[in-house]
Amino acid sequence: FKNKLKELKNSKSISKDDHKVEIAGNIGTPKDIDKVIENGGEGVGLYRTEFLYMDRDKLPTEEEQFKSYKIVAEKLEGRPLVIRTLDVGGDKELPYLEMPKEMNPFLGYRAIRLCLDRVDIFKVQLRAILRASAYGNVKIMFPMVSNLKEFRDAKQILEEMKSELRAENIPFNENIEVGIMVEIPSAAIQSDVFAKEVDFFSIGTNDLIQYTLAVDRGNENISYLYSQYHPAVLRLIKMTIENGHKEGIWVGMCGEAAGDERLIPILLGMGLDEFSMSASSILKARYTIKNISKVEMENMIEEVLNLETPLQVKQYIDEKITFKH
Ligand code: PEP
Ligand code: MG
Repeated sequence: FKNKLKELKNSKSISKDDHKVEIAGNIGTPKDIDKVIENGGEGVGLYRTEFLYMDRDKLPTEEEQFKSYKIVAEKLEGRPLVIRTLDVGGDKELPYLEMPKEMNPFLGYRAIRLCLDRVDIFKVQLRAILRASAYGNVKIMFPMVSNLKEFRDAKQILEEMKSELRAENIPFNENIEVGIMVEIPSAAIQSDVFAKEVDFFSIGTNDLIQYTLAVDRGNENISYLYSQYHPAVLRLIKMTIENGHKEGIWVGMCGEAAGDERLIPILLGMGLDEFSMSASSILKARYTIKNISKVEMENMIEEVLNLETPLQVKQYIDEKITFKH
């Protein structure tokens, strides 16, 4: 089976009925890109930039960041690279930032909220990403967006940084795509509204599950309640994909669920365009896609969404969809 997978490295991700999707990798540092390419990734759907800010005693400079983004953009040789802006707070702290102690860090001062407050930090990162966009197919993604104003504010700061670079004659991609992570239920529920203003959605199931089900994603005591098969989560995913497509934008997924062999057929049936996962899952995901038919999966979606419990969903998939290895 391993050898069979290796043969898929350079092939496209096409279902039995000829529907093409993109299978990309998630990375945390520039080093990770080699594994994505070795495993036949068609791009990077999530570059978690917070690791550039962690394990050090001061903020990374624009130049340091630019180098880290540029090298990945170049190695991808034109394949897409989605760079997510700083997502700290929650469980990821920066010792040199003096973040407030909070009762509920996962509901607190983090990600885009922090960046819109510390615009000085945000601007440096946006300039670095914009500059890297001259060297590849770079897209920008904002994390933890919960209302439209946050997106508009972030976009406006991005426009200011574009003006600065223009004035300084520094090259960047004027038409860089700007998207959001859909990882807070409000964004999924209002995805029809967001879709009119963003260039793409990437569904972050790790947090979307946590917030939809009110289950801390890291708490062992309640992990039995945390499930990507929960019908409520699946309904939000379906809604997000549908609303994105109505406005003609692409919809990806970069949470762990995107690499879940069992869920991939359902996501394909819902019309997901891009699946981004850890490098080690890419070839298996491609194998799964190649062995299923999108139309067949489409026909199961309504039934799946009307199941009552996560367990029923899991069992339904195991009964109806067989994975040939
Ligand atoms: C997610 O929430 O699904 C996600 C991809 O982001 P992170 O795991 O970095 O929070
Ligand atoms: Mg997240």
